[in-house]
Amino acid sequence: AVAQGPAEWNGAGATADGHVVKVYGNVGSPADAQAAADAGAEGVGLFRTEFSFLDAPAEPSVDEQRKAYAAVLAPFRGKPVIVRTLDAGADKPLAFLNPDDEPNPALGVRGLRVAFDRPEVLDRQLEAIAGAAQDSGALVSVMAPMVATAEEAAWFAERVRAAGIERAGVMIEIPAAALSAREILDVVDFVSVGTNDLAQYTFAADRQLGAVAKLNDPWQPALLRLLKLIGDAAKATGKPAGVCGEAAADPRLAVVLAGLGLTSLSMNAAAVRAVGASLAAVTLAEAEAKATNALASADPVAARVAAS
Ligand code: PEP
Ligand code: MG
Repeated sequence: AVAQGPAEWNGAGATADGHVVKVYGNVGSPADAQAAADAGAEGVGLFRTEFSFLDAPAEPSVDEQRKAYAAVLAPFRGKPVIVRTLDAGADKPLAFLNPDDEPNPALGVRGLRVAFDRPEVLDRQLEAIAGAAQDSGALVSVMAPMVATAEEAAWFAERVRAAGIERAGVMIEIPAAALSAREILDVVDFVSVGTNDLAQYTFAADRQLGAVAKLNDPWQPALLRLLKLIGDAAKATGKPAGVCGEAAADPRLAVVLAGLGLTSLSMNAAAVRAVGASLAAVTLAEAEAKATNALASADPVAARVAAS
């Protein structure tokens, strides 16, 4: 056992004065899910379903998908799990879905855009997810990746509800969606911010390219200002807005995100306890003050200092 580390966390995500900010795990496999459950995650804020099929030469059957998803959901019986529909393309191409002749795959037909051309693939996945929810007893909601407009969000939510799944949300990972957070929240039950892609598209900086990694720093004030728009929309509508990008795994940034009005944070299992303890160490008013200071900073270094 390591002697140092964060303070104790009681397992229920909240600030010191009881403002609830759920602490969830990001998962892509049964092993990830077990690790998240063991770490004390209150649920799953992002289940990356495409990870189950990265090597699949053809579309898996509904039954194969149902079994694969149920195996990941199993440790979360009775707990909330947000299942993301296939985020195929760009850094995660699926052979059976993505064309290989796009000049700019990160700006191409990826994520939900694939489903506009082939809605039957989405419908079969939703059928499998609904089945896996029954098999596992997890409290499943579904969200779509790479949504740009409220119109796209409404199209997706309608298909989710037609599949018998009650709660439909979308990811906010395109700046246009952040700027339309209010209109999007009007047509879905929740949103979740993918800060990895939101940073990439805000700074026009490839998330896989080390040479531009400085731009993709999640403490960039410009990114925090987009996150504030989303937090404000969550407050105005009373609907949840989470963060499931790597930004949520930084215990000090997690406090700022809570202060901006985000309502849940989802991260790799290794970060769960430290983030839970970090939230528990501040009041909501303190988190809001740190957020205000970070927002007003000129650069990421100053933002880190301002929030400490
Ligand atoms: C993100 O973009 O921040 C995100 C959580 O999705 P992914 O990393 O799978 O693209
Ligand atoms: Mg993403």
